[in-house]
Amino acid sequence: MVTSAPAMSGLDVFEELESEVRSYVRAWPAVWSRAHGASLWDEDGREYLDFFSGAGGLNYGHNPDEMIAALTRYLQSQGIIHSLDMATTAKRDFLRRFEEVVLLPRGMNYKVMFPGPTGTNAVEASLKLARKVTGRQDIVSFTNAFHGMTLGALALSGNVVKRESAGIPLEHQLTAPFDGELGEDVDTVGVLDTMLADESTSVAAVIVETVQGEGGLHTAHFSWLQRLSECCKRHDVLLIVDDIQAGCGRTGTFFSFEPAGIQPDLVCLSKSISGSGLPMSLTLIRPDLDIWSPGEHNGTFRGNNAAFVTATEALSWWADESLANEVRRKSEIIHTELASIAEEHESLRATPRGRGLLQGLHTPIDGLASGICHEAFERGLLMETSGGAASDVIKLMPPLTIEDEDLERGLAILRASVEATAP
Ligand SMILES: *Cc1c(COP(=O)(O)O)cnc(C)c1O
Repeated sequence: MVTSAPAMSGLDVFEELESEVRSYVRAWPAVWSRAHGASLWDEDGREYLDFFSGAGGLNYGHNPDEMIAALTRYLQSQGIIHSLDMATTAKRDFLRRFEEVVLLPRGMNYKVMFPGPTGTNAVEASLKLARKVTGRQDIVSFTNAFHGMTLGALALSGNVVKRESAGIPLEHQLTAPFDGELGEDVDTVGVLDTMLADESTSVAAVIVETVQGEGGLHTAHFSWLQRLSECCKRHDVLLIVDDIQAGCGRTGTFFSFEPAGIQPDLVCLSKSISGSGLPMSLTLIRPDLDIWSPGEHNGTFRGNNAAFVTATEALSWWADESLANEVRRKSEIIHTELASIAEEHESLRATPRGRGLLQGLHTPIDGLASGICHEAFERGLLMETSGGAASDVIKLMPPLTIEDEDLERGLAILRASVEATAP
């Protein structure tokens, strides 16, 4: 006798078979089947606007036409998919294009390391190299930082719940206060300066996000980043910028630290570096620090050539200033709207935060940010919260390439969601 399975709603299989660790599917209980640009469709054909952009992995929207065309051509010509760190035409094209479009015009001189394909792999590689170069063990990270989930990166996290998931003590890490953490009037670089001067510490590197993507959109002033860079130099400590979320154009320049005029010793990129959502990451290394011996750090999926193909294509967006200008223009639109929502709804006690197309609203009212994001989902807009365990920031991260009409439609949904939820 054939026993038929119980009638299934589209999500039953995930509840039955997939680990309890799943999270976004709980916030957005839909089964997604198709996406293009700033839109996602569930399997019933309902359209949602995407102000989440794969947590920053989809800066150019879903399935960008030129990248998908390049990828399709590559696959149909039997292009190499997997190559560890062997030389391939796809990797060569990427490296040349990256040099030509990103490094040379900015007067930047870095060696490119391909670690494993995720962001946390790029962070781990930078930590390992910083420790090897300096012979010191400790890394300074900042309050509310997020740098990834593997143990080295997790030790840098400001989020207690995430830290505890390690199940072991996370060591060789010191926390310094981020810009603004001790109030507007306190220059927290002074605190770091004192920490680094303490002879009982043995700090190899300081790692920083210019805008804290997961930790609440706290945004460093350019002058603070400059003082940070000087402080690291003064103490002969390496500066790592984790540009995994804020980089690749998210804040309006290819690297988020460009307007500060600093040159970090190491830079981590991932999320949108492939442009298409395919996994890829890079650690950029100041050439004289590149003291790895061959194979000392490795990984099976360092040669994700499909990602190199779309990454090369994605760099076309940076061959001139037009996308950067667009991001700045759209970020003004968002800032104006957020400031006006905050002003019109005093009960939110909201303040705008962030920079570029990585902005949001902080509200200290318990559960409100999540409530607004939930309401937005019901109305057809994906938006995430930020702010660690408190989740007290509504975060807007539309594709950089979003059409004005979609941007305005999304902002209107946000406004309506606030109006429906505000106390
Ligand atoms: C997402 C993120 C990471 C980790 O990247 P994964 O690909 O999830 O490992 C690290 N740092 C920052 C700033 C991030 O936003």
